[in-house]
Amino acid sequence: MMEGIVTKAVGGFFFVHHGGRTYRCVARGKLRRRVTEGEGPGRIVPGDRVRFGLLSAEEGIIEEVLPRTHQLAKPAAADPHRLQVLAANVDQACVVFASRRPDPDPHAIDRFLALAEGSGLRPFLCLNKVDLGDPGELGHLYGRIGYRVLRTSALTGEGLEALQDLLRGHLTVIVGPSGVGKSSLLNALLRTHRLRVGEVSPRTGRGRHTTTAAELVVVGEDAFVVDTPGVQVLEFVHLRPEEIARCFPEIRERAGRCAFGDCLHRAEPGCAVREAIAAGEIPLSRYESYLRMLEEAEEAERERYA
Ligand code: GDP
Ligand code: ZN
Repeated sequence: MMEGIVTKAVGGFFFVHHGGRTYRCVARGKLRRRVTEGEGPGRIVPGDRVRFGLLSAEEGIIEEVLPRTHQLAKPAAADPHRLQVLAANVDQACVVFASRRPDPDPHAIDRFLALAEGSGLRPFLCLNKVDLGDPGELGHLYGRIGYRVLRTSALTGEGLEALQDLLRGHLTVIVGPSGVGKSSLLNALLRTHRLRVGEVSPRTGRGRHTTTAAELVVVGEDAFVVDTPGVQVLEFVHLRPEEIARCFPEIRERAGRCAFGDCLHRAEPGCAVREAIAAGEIPLSRYESYLRMLEEAEEAERERYA
C-alpha cells in the first residue's frame, strides 16, 4: 500500500499524487458511502491523505482516509447552514498583494493575514509585481512583525525560487484581492515545475470558469497549491470580537500581560498592547486594522443577537 494526496475528485474518481505521479483511484466499498454523501464532511476531498493499493500502472483503490488536521469550508449552496468542505489539510496561506497597480492597502493586507491566522493557516506575504517598483517600507513593516515577506514578479520570474522553497512540504492556498497576480504566479510556478520534471502535456481539466470544485495543483516536489476557482476561501471566516487579537501575532504576544484577562486593548487600564503602541513597538496601521476588525466583529455579533 502507498500513501498519497488527493489532488482532484471528479465523478467518483480520485486523483492521488504519490512519488511524482498521479494515479486515478476509486474508493473501497466501505468508503464509498462517504463519497456519495455529496457535500457532507465525510466526503473525500482534495488534500486528503489516503492509503491506496494499485490496480494497474495508473489506477488504484483507496483503502483508507487518514485523519485531517484542518479543512477549508464554505456554506453549502443547497443549505447555507451546512458546510461544504473544499479542501483538507491546507496549512499555509500565501497572501498576495501587488507592490504597484493596484497599490497595496495595509489594512487590506492585515485583513487577509488575520483571516488566514483565524482559520488556522500559517500566512506569509508575497509582494508581487516588483518589476513595477519596490514595495519599500511596507515589506519591512511585516518582516519586523515576524512574517515572511517575499518580493516576486510573475512577469520576470524574480523571487519565484524563494516562493517555491516556501511552498515545499506544504498545502498552500493563494489569497489576495483580484488583479494582484495570483493566477499569473500560479501559472509561472507550474511552468517552472513542468520544465524541471520534463512534463510536456498542458494542464488539463482545471476549468476555472466551468467548475467550482477545488483542485490541488502540483507546483513542485511535495508542494501543492489549492486552486478554488471563483471562491475566495477567506471570505467565509467569521471571527468573534475576542478572537481578533489572536490573529495579530504582535498583539497576541503582549495580550497576556494586560491587567484584565478579557482586555480588548481599546481603553482598558493596564493594557500592555496600548503600552507597546505608545512605545512604537507595534505599528499604528496594524492597531488601526485590529480596531476596524474588532468593530466589524462586534457589529456582526449585534446583528446575530438582534
Ligand atoms: P489575479 O486576479 O490576482 O489572479 O491577477 P492576474 O494573475 O489575473 O493578474 C492581473 C494582471 O496583472 C494581469 O494583467 C497580469 O498580466 C498582471 N501581472 C501579474 N503578475 C505581474 C507581475 O509580476 N508584474 C507585472 N508587471 N504584471 C503582472
Ligand atoms: Zn490590552
